[in-house]
Amino acid sequence: MDLSTNNPVIMPVVGARFSDFEELRKSIDDWILAEGLSYAVRRVEQRRLILQCRKPDICMFKLTAHPRAEYWQITSYTPHTCPTTTHQKWRVAASSKRLAVHHHGLVASLPNNIQG
Ligand SMILES: [Zn+2]
Repeated sequence: MDLSTNNPVIMPVVGARFSDFEELRKSIDDWILAEGLSYAVRRVEQRRLILQCRKPDICMFKLTAHPRAEYWQITSYTPHTCPTTTHQKWRVAASSKRLAVHHHGLVASLPNNIQG
């Protein structure tokens, strides 16, 4: 086990705070990549983010995050219980892009208080 204190990867500790959705998403991607894991987006909306395993029928993995007044916070986390083969051939970039697209959609749906 690597106990290096220099590891910048933020683990998905319940209660962890992120300044915004983008930082939350990036931190999750960094951690998932560092651990050699993968995830699927179950739900992403204005008030919550839910990730699950790509094989939810055989795996308990679940990570949820909710926006607070000034930050996003991880509110629950259950580790993967699936074989490591689940995570092969997974491209984080594709999922990130998908998340980002969803997020833009959320931004676009907010009240328009910026007049170009
Ligand atoms: Zn899994």
